[in-house]
Amino acid sequence: MRKLIYADHAATTALSPLARSAMEPWLQAEFGNPSTLYSLAREPRKAILSSREIIADCIGAEPEEIYFTSGGTESDNWALTGIALQYPERHGQIITSSIEHHAVLHTCNFLQRLGYSVDFLPVDQYGVVSVDDLEKKINDNSLLVSIMLANNEIGTIQPIEELAGMAHRHGCCFHTDAVQAVGHIPIDVKKMQVDMLSASAHKFNGPKGIGFLYIRNGVHIEPLLHGGGQENGMRAGTENVASIVGMAAAIREHNEHLELEMEYLQSLSDILIKELSNAGLDYIENGSKNRVPGSLSLSFKDTDGEMLLHRLDLMGTEVATGSACNSKESELSHVIQAIHVPDDYAKGTIRITLGMDNDKEQMRHLAQQISRILQR
Ligand code: PLP
Repeated sequence: MRKLIYADHAATTALSPLARSAMEPWLQAEFGNPSTLYSLAREPRKAILSSREIIADCIGAEPEEIYFTSGGTESDNWALTGIALQYPERHGQIITSSIEHHAVLHTCNFLQRLGYSVDFLPVDQYGVVSVDDLEKKINDNSLLVSIMLANNEIGTIQPIEELAGMAHRHGCCFHTDAVQAVGHIPIDVKKMQVDMLSASAHKFNGPKGIGFLYIRNGVHIEPLLHGGGQENGMRAGTENVASIVGMAAAIREHNEHLELEMEYLQSLSDILIKELSNAGLDYIENGSKNRVPGSLSLSFKDTDGEMLLHRLDLMGTEVATGSACNSKESELSHVIQAIHVPDDYAKGTIRITLGMDNDKEQMRHLAQQISRILQR
């Protein structure tokens, strides 16, 4: 029997064996609470310290700029709400894009209800935010610009350095949701000039329920979780030591082979695209040329993406229609709407996101499965 083809790595990834074995000691033998004063706390404390250093090193940050969170959603919520609460008297403006993940968009809606004003920048047909559009909206009352580094549905990578530069020229803080980018493309927070960056371990073969928020030294935001003094008093709660260690092992593993991984994933998507084109299928490849390698959003003409997903599932292949987080909604995703995919293609959109566990043979098989379904 053919093995499952898992092609939904933007939804989540399997825990890497290396991360799993790194986590093992902290689940049982070394169970001590890092905040306690006796010797059982010493090793967990050291493990957190060294994980912070590893993660900082992978993104060009300082260790004290890394704050552990429960994942991408918390990091995004904290970055936006933390800045808003830092300057409550200004009730200022927040600028974001129309294609952000709901962790950002819904937090913006929440802040609007608290009286903050939010502007949602449009994107072009490739899903790219324009620096000129940002310049038109930004003003002296702008508190924060939050633009994602890589989109979770179409993989488009934004010109973060230019956007952050524009924000800074107006004395405004810049956050990027890098959940789909960390562990997949090179990240250098200094080069990108970002003030805050969100990441989530389960998107790069780390455990679920753990992530981090990078906060540049000198940037002040309000904590959201109050209690103990963990994370330098910025995020209360006993640390998830095993997951923190697993996240560090996973990010380092990807970083050590990043160039090769990117090349490999690009070669896989090239094969898939070639096979689909050879089969004579009518489809649009969404997103910009500058995309996360292995990330494909394809809109097939006059078909239904959800039907395609279920038929592929029956054949043992897992893909997504929009993002996993809104997969219960059957209307067009906000990203597909924002990039104006033509009506006769939009409903037939599927997202294929590849990982290092995929191979060339699977790409040929997946193309055959798709053409078999669509030509029936
Ligand atoms: N931001 C983006 C771009 C995402 O793709 C996701 C998850 O799909 C999140 C945030 C939320 O991350 P988490 O699942 O760790 O809460």
